[in-house]
Parts: sequence; C-alpha cells; structure tokens
Amino acid sequence: MPGLVVALLGAGYFWRETRRAVQDAAHREALALAEFIDSTFTLPQADRTHPHSAVAEVIGSDTRLLRSVAELHVLTPDGRIRWSRQRSEEGTLHPEAARLTALTPETARSAREGTEVVRPLGGSDCVGCHTGDTAQRLGVLQVRLSEPLLSRQLSAVFQGAMGATLVFGVVLALAMGLALHFFFGRPLRRLTAIMRRAEEGDFLVRAETRGTDEISRLGAAFNQMLARLTSMKAEEIDTHRDLALANEKLALKEKLEERITELSLLFDVAHSLNSTLELSELLERITRLVVERLKIPNFSIMLRNADGLLEIRSAWPQHRGSEGLTFGIGEGACGRAAETLRAVYLPDVGDRSSIFAKRNLVGGTDHGSLLAVPMVHMDQLLGVMNFQRPEVAGFSPEELELLMAVADQAATAVKNARLHSEAVLLTMTDPLTGLPNRRHLFGRLDAELARAERYGTPLSVLMIDVDHFKWLNDAAGHRTGDEILRKVCDVLRPCVRKVDTLARYGGEEFMVLLPQTAKEGAVAVGEKLRRAVLDSAGLAVPTQPTGHVTISIGVASYPLDASDQETLVDCVDAALYASKRGGRNKVSAYEPGMEIHPGRERGPHAGRSTDNSRPLPPAGVAKA
Ligand code: GH3
Ligand code: MG
Ligand code: MG
Repeated sequence: MPGLVVALLGAGYFWRETRRAVQDAAHREALALAEFIDSTFTLPQADRTHPHSAVAEVIGSDTRLLRSVAELHVLTPDGRIRWSRQRSEEGTLHPEAARLTALTPETARSAREGTEVVRPLGGSDCVGCHTGDTAQRLGVLQVRLSEPLLSRQLSAVFQGAMGATLVFGVVLALAMGLALHFFFGRPLRRLTAIMRRAEEGDFLVRAETRGTDEISRLGAAFNQMLARLTSMKAEEIDTHRDLALANEKLALKEKLEERITELSLLFDVAHSLNSTLELSELLERITRLVVERLKIPNFSIMLRNADGLLEIRSAWPQHRGSEGLTFGIGEGACGRAAETLRAVYLPDVGDRSSIFAKRNLVGGTDHGSLLAVPMVHMDQLLGVMNFQRPEVAGFSPEELELLMAVADQAATAVKNARLHSEAVLLTMTDPLTGLPNRRHLFGRLDAELARAERYGTPLSVLMIDVDHFKWLNDAAGHRTGDEILRKVCDVLRPCVRKVDTLARYGGEEFMVLLPQTAKEGAVAVGEKLRRAVLDSAGLAVPTQPTGHVTISIGVASYPLDASDQETLVDCVDAALYASKRGGRNKVSAYEPGMEIHPGRERGPHAGRSTDNSRPLPPAGVAKA
C-alpha cells in the first residue's frame, strides 16, 4: 500500500512537471506561431494582389500547424476583427476588444483554457505599404492555442498508466491477499488453534512442521516448547505428589506427636496421682497438674460430701473463697454433669441463654468457656472437675477428650485414696467401739510425747478399766458386755477435748491422752470420767456389785512421772492397779513405788486382782 501511494505521488509529480513542460512548449509554440503569422505580412507577395492575402490564407487553412489553434484574430486598432478563422466574425467587434487593443507590447499568458499571445502589428516593416503613424500601429494579432496535442497525448498516456497502475495494484493486492490467506493465514490459524488447546492444558497437541517456511519453523519451536512444558508439567505433578505425600506424613507426624504428648501427659498424670494415697495431697496435685501441664488458668475439683452435695475441695486460683462452696446435683453445669454422668461443655459462659448461665462458674470468671467433667468410678459419682478458660470456645475437641481421660484418671486416684483412707481407718479403729485402737493409740502417744518434749509442755495419760467386767459377761452374756462397752465409750467420748485421744487399750480397758495437761488437771479429768460413768442411767446394771457399771482410773504424767513411753505406760498402769487395789471406782495418780507391790511384782498387770469373790470396797477417789 505505501508503495502504491508513493507510485501515485510520483505519477502526480511527473504529471505536474509534464504539464508544465507542455505549457512551456505551448507558450513557445504560440509565440512562434504569432511570429510566423506576423512575418507573413512582410513576405514578398509577387504573385498576389494584396500582401495580406497570405495571412488570410494561413488563417483560413487547416494545416497540422494550426490544428491546436483555438482562436486566431487579426484586429484593427479599434478592435474590429479583420481576419478570423471563423469568417462570420470578420467585421465584428471583438468581445474583448478593449483588453486586446490596450496592450502595446507583445504578451503571452497561459491559462487553464490554453495559451494566448497578443501581438501588436505595425512598425517599420509596414512603412512600405502603410504611411504615417498608422504604419506604426496597424492592429493586433491574437492567437489562442487550446490544449496542445502533446498535452492530450500525455494525458492519455498518464491516464492509461494510472489505470494500469491501479489495476496492477488491485491485482497485486488480491494476489497478496490470496497468498497471505493460503500461505500465512491458514497455517497461522492452525498454529493459533494448537496454541489455544495447549493454553487450555492439552500439552500433547503438536503443530504441523512440514516445509521450511517461517510458520513451520515457528511450529517446530512451539512443539519444542510444548515438549519442554510437558516434561515440566510431569515434573510438577511428581513434585506435587511428593509434596502431598510429605504433607500427609507431616500431618501424621504432628498427630502422632500430639498423641504422644497427650499419652505422656496422661502417663505423668497417672504416675503423679498414683504416687500418693493422701486425699488432700492428691487433690492438690491434680490442681497443679491441670494448671501447670494443661495450661488451664481456672480450675476446681469437687467431691461428693456426706450430704451428697458437690463440695469444692480444691480450686485455682487459690484462696478466692470458692473452696468449701457446695452445689446440688443438677445445679449449674457441674451439677448437670454430676446428674447425667456426662461432660458438660459451655463454649461461651457469657451466653445468657444457656440453661447453666446461673451459678455455673466455679471459682472462675463470668466469661470464656467452661468444661465440667464428672469423676466416675464403677458407675459411682465421686465428684466433678471444672476446667475454665477466659477465651470463648477455648477447648478443642481433642482437648475435651484428653480432659475426660484426665478426669477418669483422677477418679481412679480419688477412689484409691478413699479406699486407702478407709483401710487405714479400719486398721486404726476398734470395730466394736469405733475408737482408735491400740496401734493408733501408741502412734498418737509417740507423737504427743515428741511434741511435749519439743515444746516443753506436760502430757498426762489416763488408763481406765471397767470394774468387775467379767461378772457382767458371765451374768449377762458377752453381747450385753459388748453393748455395755459401747455405752461406756459413748459416755466417755464427750467428756474429753478434741485435742485429747480416747482409745481402746484392750479388753475392757481404755486410755486417754491429755496433751498440755499436768497431773492435777488429768486427775480432775479422770474424776469427771468416773463420775460420768457412775451417773449414766444407761449403765445401771444389776449384775455389778454396786448395781451400776463403774470404772477405775490411773493417772501418770510426762515429764513428772516418766520421760519415755514405756515407763509412762507402766506408771499409769501401776496407778490403775492402785485404784483397783484401793477398792475400784477410783482415780489414782501415780506415785513412785506403786509399781512395786507385793501382789504385782512383774509387769503392769501381774498383780491386778481378778478375784471376783472379793467384797467391793466403798466408792470413792483415792488421792495420791
Ligand atoms: P477387775 O475389776 O479387777 O478389772 O475385774 P475384771 O473382771 O474386770 O477383770 P478381768 O481381767 O478378770 O476380766 C476382764 C474381762 O473382760 C475378761 C473378758 O472376758 C472381758 N472382756 C474383755 N474384752 C471384752 C470384750 O470385748 N467384750 C466382752 N463382752 N467382754 C470382754
Ligand atoms: Mg476390769
Ligand atoms: Mg481389765
């Protein structure tokens, strides 16, 4: 297209130049023709009658020379046409007479319609025939050449050339279009379609590569790129698969690690909880484990008390006043967990629509999440563990499971601790009277002696023996004897302080430990006990010599009478023996020499009388 434009511009330029040359040629031709016609006036006219007849001849002729002459006039000085190629015009006034006759020098001008030469006639050459001034100015010759032949021919040539150029251009354009269509368009479209399929993910397509043209080379390069892409895609798929496998392994590893952490935590919990059988220590340990290992900032553990209520036995943070609070079964989240024996989870305790909104917080705050897990052992509810976090939905499902497992462990540990304490209680308690037994008694005596020694305080001991108990057994039977023993205990128990220890020493003998009590005070206590038994209406028994159960009491004190346990027991036993010897129903304080008695030379009980036939002494108190 640009070539066509350049060709057209060039043709235009040449056309303009040619026109200019033709105009110049026409100009010169017109001048030459005017010169020629002018010169005919001066030619020798031997064979003619008038010299101007040649002019007329020339003007009237239709020679090749004058073929391009459009107008040829010879005008008189006043503008009348003297000679013209159109004979009918002769004698008439030229339409432009004024313009033509006004011009004195020869003029030539080219215009669109042709080239006009106006030449004044006259001068020295005309003096021979013309006289006077008239010879100087005889008229005007006007010649106007229409478009010259050359110009027309050139126009025709140029028009032909232009037409041919246009036809050539059109043919060339068509040929190029067809060539482009067949040699470029179609292969390019095919290549583009292949590229589009590849773009859509089909890397197995291939472009045609027949031939050595650019498009075939482009297709070959594209095929190479596709092959590279295919291998890259395969590598990517492999990498993705490896990555997915690695991620799977990683997730499995993380899960395993979490599981191991949970199991290790459970193991620690079990180990820690099973390493103590002391309930209060156990509850303390559970609390610390939950707070420190499980990172739960608010926690409380409740046990069922004797009234069947849930009582907070340990809580974190400590000493906020929640210890000792009680909840009924079914009350709040903890009560609900106890009632249903299933964990109750409140993801948002601030949600007032919750049925547990009231009183569901156990030593915690009124926002966050709460989990209450019952502690159940062999279908028996032992208590509830309450876990709380300040965040809403602060417990994951895995954590809920873990905490339930922890609660199971804790339940087992609590049960063990309770069984242990019951067993301990059994081993320390006399089953008949419910009093601490001899084992417990001596344990306490050791402890009290140590304390008395440490703080320099006195410790008194009473030994009590039921008088003539054998009689009662023999007369009323051992079951009645057991009953009387229990009644004696019931009478004695309220007469001692909480810090005192009333224990069964053996048979129908009891011992009382009176910490921080000197001998006089102990004798007074003994007297109080003796009187209580004597005054108890339930102990009026006809089998006894006095018709009433009586007791004899011995009193000994640390450090006054003895500084060690064995000696102290010997002393109190001797004092008891003294009461027996003194007639029974007495309180005797130990005095040195008591243990050396004619009837009791060896051992504390060696000389105690079992002579039931002996008459009873009068009741009274034997003062030391
Ligand atoms: P004394 O005034 O000298 O103490 O006379 P006693 O009869 O109480 O003394 P003795 O030691 O001779 O008798 C003690 C009796 O207590 C013998 C025994 O059968 C009886 N006894 C000991 N333990 C129990 C017991 O657990 N239940 C019953 N029913 N009797 C018991
Ligand atoms: Mg007795
Ligand atoms: Mg006895």
